[in-house]
Amino acid sequence: MRDPIENVKPQVRALRPYSLRFEDARIKLNQNENPWDTPTEIKRETFRRLENRPWSRYPEFIASRLIGDLGEFSNWTADGTLVGNGSNELIQAVLMVSVSDGKRVLINEPTFSLYRQVTTILGGEIVSVPLTAALTYDVEAMRTAIESSKPDVVIICSPNNPTGCLIGKDDLVSLLETTDGLIVVDEAYFEFSGETVLPLIEQHRNLVVLRTFSKALAMAALRIGYLLTTPELAREISKALLPYNLNVFSQTAAEVAMENFESSYRPLVKAILAERDRVFLELGRIRGLKPVRSSANFIVVRSAVDPHLVFDKLLQRGILIRDVTAYPMLKDYFRVSIGSPEENDLLLKSLREIVAA
Ligand code: PMP
Repeated sequence: MRDPIENVKPQVRALRPYSLRFEDARIKLNQNENPWDTPTEIKRETFRRLENRPWSRYPEFIASRLIGDLGEFSNWTADGTLVGNGSNELIQAVLMVSVSDGKRVLINEPTFSLYRQVTTILGGEIVSVPLTAALTYDVEAMRTAIESSKPDVVIICSPNNPTGCLIGKDDLVSLLETTDGLIVVDEAYFEFSGETVLPLIEQHRNLVVLRTFSKALAMAALRIGYLLTTPELAREISKALLPYNLNVFSQTAAEVAMENFESSYRPLVKAILAERDRVFLELGRIRGLKPVRSSANFIVVRSAVDPHLVFDKLLQRGILIRDVTAYPMLKDYFRVSIGSPEENDLLLKSLREIVAA
């Protein structure tokens, strides 16, 4: 008898599962989460609304209330908005409706590894453009690669995970004009950069923007993502989403969060940005470390000391960072998320000891 595993597509068998080493640490700086929990007033109001809502009943077929609120929050139309179980689900949905055997997806590397993973599972082929040596977008190289390989989809993460670089608006326009394919801009961290490419959709009907509640909005546990594009593309992409993909609990929490964004979240974002600038400055003062300027809530750092050793020694002190040494171009780097001021102080103190030793 044939081994059941042989029924799985060869390109899937060749992949390693997307996973993250779980470590229990007091200070968690490995997943670019908000260091502060969802504000108490948001939790309370969410619980209150849920108490009055029958749990025996399905969510609305289309989360129209949440989508309406998102439209207002993002200044976009409801018929061009989709919600997902995390933005991960929306990355998958965009690729499901556009990628099949032999289709090409252009990405920059290093970047968020899920783009390559999902493309490969769907039978697509990755065209990879390296970042510049300074770990910024190499727009010339992207344009040349688009012209020669004519990708069906281009994915640009801005700010980019794990390097923090941004794509400039004029550069993006030049790329949008170079391709007939879709350009997906993953703005998971856009609240930290204050920059969005969303208005470009009016002129460029091949643009899709992805966002999440997992980072600035401190709701990673609730798995809420959203997608903004033209109504025509939104309708097609929605076909790849499962019915009721976002549960009522998460929908309600997202609504409450948006209603209170300015009072409850804006101060947190500001505090994270001030900390990011301080941590960047302090890291640069540690001999042997060279932080890379970031537009997000994390920083990659070039280290003269083996990054695996830095990782292990920090973990012994209860601080968990991200090992990025397996990413292209990053074998000499580690990544830290920006924590609370106290967490960042401990990180910096520990790094001074570890790297100087
Ligand atoms: N895009 C990027 C660039 C990310 O870094 C992440 C999370 N690490 C995601 C998408 C997925 O976020 P979520 O599914 O939690 O919305």
